[in-house]
Amino acid sequence: MKALYPGSFDPLTLGHLDLIKRANDLFGEIVIAVLENPSKKATFTLERRIEQIKHATRELSGIKVLSFKGLTVEFAEQQNVDLILRGLRAMSDFEYELQIAHTNRSLNNKFETVFLATDTHHSFLSSSLVKEVASFGGNVSHMVPSKVAEDLVNLNMI
Ligand code: ADP
Repeated sequence: MKALYPGSFDPLTLGHLDLIKRANDLFGEIVIAVLENPSKKATFTLERRIEQIKHATRELSGIKVLSFKGLTVEFAEQQNVDLILRGLRAMSDFEYELQIAHTNRSLNNKFETVFLATDTHHSFLSSSLVKEVASFGGNVSHMVPSKVAEDLVNLNMI
């Protein structure tokens, strides 16, 4: 099975990475789709986010990292995937994620959204929280892959 994992990944956290590894074991093939959203100002460029993910997943097979803009279901169609993958950290994610899943299904009912529950170690992590900790000089090495931690330190020096 081939899964599409869409997201902003601004930046990739160890929570995302854990989900990718577990989904890879389950489905075999994952297309990680990095959202190019002109209306949402990203901290890291699209190219940098893609590099961060490629580096963190370099030892896994069956992973493709691509950018996309527009509708997730259209990209799912283009990539010929079987399902859309999303992560659930807590009840607070649930309402939003369910709304997106229903919307996607109303646009194209071919694609089911499959949710994986976050590993408990990483359930507190979000890209924005990591950026906030890093902006105050806090240690984020247990929250993000090493390359991302380096990039966050470099951001602070600009
Ligand atoms: P988006 O802007 O689309 O929500 P994110 O990069 O924040 O993009 O998240 C992409 C997906 O990864 C979402 O399904 C989100 O719930 C999930 N996710 C975010 N943080 C974690 C985490 N710590 N552990 C597992 N899944 C996560």
